[in-house]
Amino acid sequence: MEELRAVLSQPRREGLTVGLVPTMGALHEGHLSLVRRARHLSDVVVVSVFVNPLQFGEGEDFEHYPRDTEGDLELLEGERSDVVFLPSVDAMYPPDATIGVAAGSLGDVYEGADRPGHFDGVCTVVTKLFNIVEPDFAVFGQKDAQQVAVLKRLVRDLDFSLDLVVAPIVRETDGLAMSSRNFYLSAEQRHQALALSGCLARGRDELSRSGDLQSAEKLMLAYLEDAEGVDPAYAAAVDPNTFDAPDPAGPVLLVVAAMVGSTRLIDNLLIEAVDRGG
Ligand code: AMP
Repeated sequence: MEELRAVLSQPRREGLTVGLVPTMGALHEGHLSLVRRARHLSDVVVVSVFVNPLQFGEGEDFEHYPRDTEGDLELLEGERSDVVFLPSVDAMYPPDATIGVAAGSLGDVYEGADRPGHFDGVCTVVTKLFNIVEPDFAVFGQKDAQQVAVLKRLVRDLDFSLDLVVAPIVRETDGLAMSSRNFYLSAEQRHQALALSGCLARGRDELSRSGDLQSAEKLMLAYLEDAEGVDPAYAAAVDPNTFDAPDPAGPVLLVVAAMVGSTRLIDNLLIEAVDRGG
């Protein structure tokens, strides 16, 4: 931590800008797109690779989460990232640490309802990373739409002085959103996982046809329930900032989560107001 601060002090003195890309490693093209965005925005790019125990619940996959430090470093070298921050759990969380950041009510719904404490863990680690790196820009992926909504609040409510930048979802050619958890999927499950992006397309089509949110939600859920090997958690049409009911004249975020085998996957699709029919 001190080492990282020391490395960043020189460019800071020279007035260079710093961009931060927080990740949990097992990097793929989705992550790399964030690194490229950070490279474009800032002089110095810091990528953190840290599997944050605080954001995993009991019985979740913290122990088994894919880790590939060597592969990650190789990929990051190709992207010309300047600094890779790989803290240990003990360095990030001294055993007698008692203070964390609470995500509040936005952290209790959808992903937060299924994964209690998840967004508190996210807010705590991101706060620490912001304090350690003091970035001018921090880049996050739209893939984790509720995380983006929570972190925008974090920046606003705790007065962080940085630009939170959101990069679009990177997908495989067949539509599956890239995710480190896709590494868990068998060939058959990899195919079944297409139900998530398929369900979002179904919702988008219904919204552009009828503009009816309830009908879109119903059809999305039915699509997932009909899909083989898929156990839906939720499929909903929400306001992208509050995750409450969407503003009648505003954008709509379609969100979906489902188990494919023992792997929990999420996806989402933002529908602009002009694309809402009815
Ligand atoms: P993770 O390592 O899963 O915690 O993700 C680190 C960052 O990469 C988060 O901001 C994610 O939203 C982002 N990310 C993960 N997958 C994708 C993707 N397919 N497209 C864009 N961003 C992504």
